[in-house]
Amino acid sequence: MNDKKCCVCGDRAVGNNFNALTCESCRSFFRRNAFRVEEFHCFFDNNCSINWLTRKFCKTCRLKKCFAVGMKKNIVDTTVSNERQKVSDIPTLIRELIFSFNELEMNRFRELFSSAVMLRDPVLKTISETNTYMDSFTVLQKRAALKCNRIIKMSTNISEFTNLCEEDKIALLKTGCPEVICLLTVVNFDFNDNYWTVPVVNIN
Ligand SMILES: [Zn+2]
Ligand SMILES: [Zn+2]
Repeated sequence: MNDKKCCVCGDRAVGNNFNALTCESCRSFFRRNAFRVEEFHCFFDNNCSINWLTRKFCKTCRLKKCFAVGMKKNIVDTTVSNERQKVSDIPTLIRELIFSFNELEMNRFRELFSSAVMLRDPVLKTISETNTYMDSFTVLQKRAALKCNRIIKMSTNISEFTNLCEEDKIALLKTGCPEVICLLTVVNFDFNDNYWTVPVVNIN
């Protein structure tokens, strides 16, 4: 068993990273943020305690601790980290992010992802072209209503949501539904030819 601890947060260390023994999360954190010191500021007294539970709370103090335990930013390969910013590398970024989640956050995400399955559209079977704006509007309106129902169903599968009082649930859905629907439409946009595709299966 590997019982070496991360010098920054005390989590299980994965090796020597940028000149210090650190965990996966602190390694990714340092790689992403070593050159961004001036972008963050501490909301407290610049001496927040950093452990594996609190490490996400204050980037300033975490970064300060990284430097204090000897991590060196000149070892961070900026060409690699710039490369990672490219849109094509988003899966890599997400993977790095996922590594930096703790157990509680991971469980929340698992719950969210499994609930979000019901927002997916069925396989696209029909493509119908609409000739007037009015037709397109009607289709979009029906889809928005359909999506709204699914978002509500999805939300009731998320334990944190079901624990809220009725008033808060309604307020959250009222403001959240339009936003989620807007985000969902992105997957229906054809970026090559600049048009929206609208799955029309199951509408009525
Ligand atoms: Zn750590
Ligand atoms: Zn702080």
